[in-house]
Amino acid sequence: MTSVSQTKRSAKPRAPRKAPAPAKVRRDKAKAVAPKVGFVSLGCPKALVDSERIITKLRAEGYQVAGDYQGADVVVVNTCGFLDSAKKESLDAIGEAIASNGRVIVTGCMGVEEGRIRAAHPGVLAVTGPHQYEQVVSAVHDAVPPLHDPYVDLVPPEGLRLTPRHYAYLKISEGCNNRCSFCIIPSLRGDLASRPAASVMAEAERLVKAGVRELLVISQDTSAYGLDIKYAESMWRGAPMKARFLDLSRALGDLGAWVRMHYVYPYPHVDDVIPLMAEGKILPYLDIPFQHASPAVLKAMRRPAHQEKTAARIARWRAVCPDLAIRSTFIVGFPGETEQDFAFLLDWLKEAKLNRVGCFKYEPVEGAKANDLEGLVPEEVKEDRWHRFMAVQQEISRDLLAQKVGQTIDVVIDEVDDEGAIGRSKWDAPEIDGSVFLNGETSAKAGDMLAVRVLHADEYDLWGERAAVS
Ligand code: SF4
Repeated sequence: MTSVSQTKRSAKPRAPRKAPAPAKVRRDKAKAVAPKVGFVSLGCPKALVDSERIITKLRAEGYQVAGDYQGADVVVVNTCGFLDSAKKESLDAIGEAIASNGRVIVTGCMGVEEGRIRAAHPGVLAVTGPHQYEQVVSAVHDAVPPLHDPYVDLVPPEGLRLTPRHYAYLKISEGCNNRCSFCIIPSLRGDLASRPAASVMAEAERLVKAGVRELLVISQDTSAYGLDIKYAESMWRGAPMKARFLDLSRALGDLGAWVRMHYVYPYPHVDDVIPLMAEGKILPYLDIPFQHASPAVLKAMRRPAHQEKTAARIARWRAVCPDLAIRSTFIVGFPGETEQDFAFLLDWLKEAKLNRVGCFKYEPVEGAKANDLEGLVPEEVKEDRWHRFMAVQQEISRDLLAQKVGQTIDVVIDEVDDEGAIGRSKWDAPEIDGSVFLNGETSAKAGDMLAVRVLHADEYDLWGERAAVS
């Protein structure tokens, strides 16, 4: 399931991530001469994980990470190529890196369009595509040879990450077997390729041992995990473990960190995971990009699920796990979407009462099958539907959040400044969902888990005060 647009167009957009400044890096004589690589990581969490893998490999070879363009010997730009607007942003980022540094290597999803990149920026040193870690590293070697001291910059066992210390993305598979008509991810990233369960678990365990308190499970289609490898067993903690969504959820839940599931399709076997949420093994949170509700639009989108059955499934899930939060994204103005289809979507939304929802106006993607569809929706109609959609959802969200006032909830702190702390509840994922504000709470630290009494709510966020340290 694609997440590119969700991340890039969330209600709380963030600037492209740059790698952490080298201030945190231990300085010694060897490091003073180590070559430095700058990183700009655009796009979805999957691309971010790719960047982390590249950085981990380079750090293992003695490279340093530069915190700004000027301090870098070469800059790697990890691009997003999902939407035309994302491609434009990628080209702009490449241009900025060339103007600021001059020595630029391009990788990521847009790398499959090398001709277009070179036409816009003839000065790039190398262009590689998604998941071509070895090629990126080799391009860095060509641009700035590594030091020949194998003892320089030992990498911590959990690798190097671009996220804060207390949460981490855990990528369980690459690619996707679906063929949604608006999406070119399968042509960019290929069919589903799941990691062995033991490999995922070993990475998750290393992260938790290194202080990670929240694991965000990502892929293009998380509930399809293991299908391609026929749910193959691998040895984990001395016993065979199947590469299956339920088994993985249970094992991750045993690690003692929050486990949050992203990009889950509502396949029937997802039902089996809901009791784990009710027991508190994994977070009562599902990120399901429904995209629409009208059967006609879903058919045109070639989506693999049918919403009329999904509404009933959600009701059953909530009967098992009443505090389940569902986050989703929708597209309005898809080619052929009639006013009737849109009204169906609004009615479905009112019935489903999803907790967190993002809505995008349809935008054609170069190379996508949806471009052949008739019935283009005029921009002003898309705009109007978007506003109507958001108004309905805001009311739902306001009502749901108001029910939290007076409750004491667990909150993980993401950042602290002079005015107080900002955290999240178990119903909110970082960057895309809402926050819990603790005004005046300056003694907390990022990563702390606090019990918080909720005092106030609006349509997006909560405000509260510390009840007791949990
Ligand atoms: S084809 Fe569909 S399910 Fe697969 S990545 Fe694209 S939007 Fe997601």
